[in-house]
Amino acid sequence: MSHFSYRSGVLHAENVALTTLVKQFGSPLYVYSKAALIENYQSYAKACAAAGRAKSGALICYSVKSNANLAVLNVLGQQGSGFDIVSGGELQRVIAAGCDPKKVIFSGVGKGREEMRLALSHDILCFNVESIPELHRLNEVAGEVGKVARISLRVNPNVDAKTHPYISTGLKENKFGVAYEDALDCYRAAAALPHIEVVGIDCHIGSQLLDDAPLLEALDKVIELIDQLHAEGIDIHHLDIGGGIGIVYHDEKPVPVGDYLGRVFARVDAWRAKKYNGATIDVMFEPGRSIVGNAGILVTEVQYLKHGEDKNFAIVDAAMNDLMRPALYEAWHGVEVVEQKEIAAQIYDVVGPVCESGDWLAKGRTLAIAPGDLLALLSAGAYGMTMASNYNTRGRAAEVLVDGDKVHLIRKREQPADLFALESIIS
Ligand SMILES: *Cc1c(COP(=O)(O)O)cnc(C)c1O
Repeated sequence: MSHFSYRSGVLHAENVALTTLVKQFGSPLYVYSKAALIENYQSYAKACAAAGRAKSGALICYSVKSNANLAVLNVLGQQGSGFDIVSGGELQRVIAAGCDPKKVIFSGVGKGREEMRLALSHDILCFNVESIPELHRLNEVAGEVGKVARISLRVNPNVDAKTHPYISTGLKENKFGVAYEDALDCYRAAAALPHIEVVGIDCHIGSQLLDDAPLLEALDKVIELIDQLHAEGIDIHHLDIGGGIGIVYHDEKPVPVGDYLGRVFARVDAWRAKKYNGATIDVMFEPGRSIVGNAGILVTEVQYLKHGEDKNFAIVDAAMNDLMRPALYEAWHGVEVVEQKEIAAQIYDVVGPVCESGDWLAKGRTLAIAPGDLLALLSAGAYGMTMASNYNTRGRAAEVLVDGDKVHLIRKREQPADLFALESIIS
C-alpha cells in the first residue's frame, strides 16, 4: 500500500491528506490512487513484455466488474488494457470511457439477446461462451444481424482453486462453463455453426487465489484440450487463463504476478516449441482484484462509540451497502485511523448504520478513536463500489482519484432524490 502512507501522522493518498479529501467531498468516500492502478497494471504488462509479448501475443483484459468507474477504465485503457465484461452495461461503460470495444471479451452464464446484439454491433474481440444453449442463441442472433461471432468456450477444468466457496468457480458443482468432458463435443458443435467462428478457449477457476498451482493445473488441462482440438482440425488462436491472483488484505502471501505470468509463458512456449514448431498462441488474462484492489480505500467517519458489557462498537457512516464484502464473505479489511492520536486504544467492532446485524465492516480491532475521527478501510478498490447498493435509501459514496497532488472527483455522491427519481406514485 505504498501509495497510501502516513505523513506527519496523517494518512495520505499519494500526496493528498485524506482529511483534506473528506473536507471537500464528505464521507464516506472511496479514494483511489492512479499511480497504484498503473503500477498494478504494469506488473502484468511488464511480465508480458519480459516474455517477448510487449506488442502482440498477450492481452490483459481487466475485469470490469471489480471496479467499473469510467475514470478507472479510461486510465487502464490508456495503458493498453483490454476488458473482460459480464454484461451489456459494462460494454457501454467501456465505450463511454473512450476505450476500444475491439479489445473486449464477454464472459457470463446468462448473456441476453440484446446484450449479444450490442456486442456484435461493436465487433468485440470474443464471446466467452458458457453453454450449448448460449452457443445456439449467439449463432441465431449473429445470423439475424449478418455477423459472425468469434467465440471461445469457457471450460470448467474441475480444479479446486482453494478459495472462498462464493468465489470458487472451476469445480464441477459450479454453474460456470462447460464440463471438461463435454468440451470436445461443444467445440465440434460450435465449429459446425454458420455464424460462429471458434477462436479461443478460456477458463476462470476463481478469485483471490494466493497460489498459482491450481491456475497452472488448469492451464495444463486447457493445453491438453487444444491438442485434442488441433488433432480434429479445430485450431485455437488464443488461450485465456482467467483472473484470480489474490491480494494482501491481511497476512496473505500471494504469488507475485510476474512470477505467475513467467511460469505461464514458460509452459506455453515450451509446449508450442515441442508440438507446433514454435508457432505462437496468444495468451490472455482477466485480472480484476489484483489491479484495483489495493489501489483503493474507503474512508469513513466515526459517528458514535458504544461501550457495552461484552463489546465496544464504533458506529461509522459507511455500511454494508457501501462495502459488502465483510457481510457477504466475512472478508477482512485492514482499518487505519486517518489521524493518529495520543488517546487510549480499545477493541471495537466497526459497524454501519444499516438495520442488519450483518452490517459490520471489521471486528475486534484495536483503535484509538473518538467520535468525528476518520477511519480508512484498506484494500477496498475491488468489489467495493461495484457491489454497493442503496439499501436503507443510502446514496452511494462519492469516488475520487488522486494523481500526485491532483484530485479528481470521478463520481459524485448520490443524493436521496437520485434514488427515487425513477419511481412514481400511482394516481
Ligand atoms: C470476476 C472474474 C474475473 C476477475 O477475477 P479477479 O479475481 O478479480 O481477478 C475474471 N474472469 C471472470 C470470468 C470473472 O468472472
